[in-house]
Amino acid sequence: MNNNFDIGIIGAGPAGYTYALHASAQGKSVVLFEKKQIGGVCLNKGCIPTKSILHSSEVYKQILNAEKFGVTTQNVTLDYSKVLERKNKTVETLRKGIELALKNAKVTVINSEAKIKDKNTIVECNADIYNCSKIVCSTGSSPKIIKGLEFDHEFLLSSDDILNLASLPKSILIVGSGAIGVEWARIFNNFGVETTVVELASHLLPLADAEVSKRLERIFKTEKIKFFTQTCVKEINNKKITLSNDEILQPEMVLVAVGRTPNITDKIDGVTYIGDVTGEIQLAHYAIKQAIEDADGIKFEKGLTPSVVYGTPEIAWVGKREQDLEPDSYKKSLVLLSAIGKAHCDGQTDGLIKILSQNGKIVGAHIVSSEASSLIQQITIAIQNGITVDKLKEVCFPHPTYSEGIYDALFKL
Ligand SMILES: Cc1cc2nc3c(=O)[nH]c(=O)nc-3n(C[C@H](O)[C@H](O)[C@H](O)COP(=O)(O)OP(=O)(O)OC[C@H]3O[C@@H](n4cnc5c(N)ncnc54)[C@H](O)[C@@H]3O)c2cc1C
Repeated sequence: MNNNFDIGIIGAGPAGYTYALHASAQGKSVVLFEKKQIGGVCLNKGCIPTKSILHSSEVYKQILNAEKFGVTTQNVTLDYSKVLERKNKTVETLRKGIELALKNAKVTVINSEAKIKDKNTIVECNADIYNCSKIVCSTGSSPKIIKGLEFDHEFLLSSDDILNLASLPKSILIVGSGAIGVEWARIFNNFGVETTVVELASHLLPLADAEVSKRLERIFKTEKIKFFTQTCVKEINNKKITLSNDEILQPEMVLVAVGRTPNITDKIDGVTYIGDVTGEIQLAHYAIKQAIEDADGIKFEKGLTPSVVYGTPEIAWVGKREQDLEPDSYKKSLVLLSAIGKAHCDGQTDGLIKILSQNGKIVGAHIVSSEASSLIQQITIAIQNGITVDKLKEVCFPHPTYSEGIYDALFKL
């Protein structure tokens, strides 16, 4: 076999497989190494499996609450093994799609661990050597381990372990309230598991706009998800957990979701690093944009990477948070979902659409609403292209939709 390639890529998550497909579309010869499964964390342990399970949990909860929509149900039961079966099928279908795309693009895929020897040489675990004009390292990240809460994979679980539970626990403690912690809190709560969240920062979802965090806290209270902020785990003694506020909990298990550590030892000069391994913004779409930026030369504004937390309601934001802006330097408009017709039709009135502007242009948007994950894209396009608030007012927004909240917000800026 010819072991000379234009591009050698290690890691076939969103960063690696996107790079491979785009480089190959430009006529480059590409070799892609993956030690586990094509699709990386995103497809196999992250975005896709969690959203599949989340969806099942929302269907379950909606059916339990169907009566308020005029639908009577009886004997609703949950078969968690089928939830996992569906999740596995979803993941497999998507994985096969990526494998086929790589095959069609004539990317050489090597299912093996690989190491970078120098900026033009990759050594595969069988000691085979690959010479590459350029090497891309997209080895991703792994669940962060913190002292005292080291994973034992039975009681103290990582976001990988939690995907493999054969059945649901009766109660769970979730340490950390970033996107992963919040999404799993919603999943467990929807399934009727007694759920508690512990967060060290002063608010849940500490990276969000403070008003969004407070709204989420209100929603958690309504949903009966217990939480403690400015709190950490002080001691674990025989599955008995003492928190720093002296609260004592005895959950059946603990999910530790306190961030992710890049899979890297030393950086090698001349090698391109993209995706979670950079330790920058650890999101799949950021990884994909980094790949496209380097492979195709299509720039993107890193500061305009939208963040999304899934569940009901979705939470999404882009650009500046209110706490980032100097007082009196900006205008703010806030539309509550209770003022939006579609929200009433859907029974989803707890939420908000908040837009921040400076000099007639939007600089940040923060949305707690159904469809927030798609709504945020409208604002991202507007900010990135410098479309003024007045120009946006000329756009026609359909009725009844959640997007009308954005339109209404424009007139308050
Ligand atoms: C529970 C969870 C939910 C998430 N939800 C979302 C979400 O909704 N939206 C979002 O944008 N992001 C989400 N993320 C984050 C997202 O999964 C990551 O940002 C994304 O996967 C990063 O892509 P990547 O290609 O950089 O790395 P990864 O997806 O981590 O892929 C890296 C790949 O490299 C392989 N590899 C590592 N070392 C080697 C080696 N030496 N040789 C060969 N192969 C190697 C690994 O096996 C892996 O397959 C979530 C993450 C988790 C854990």
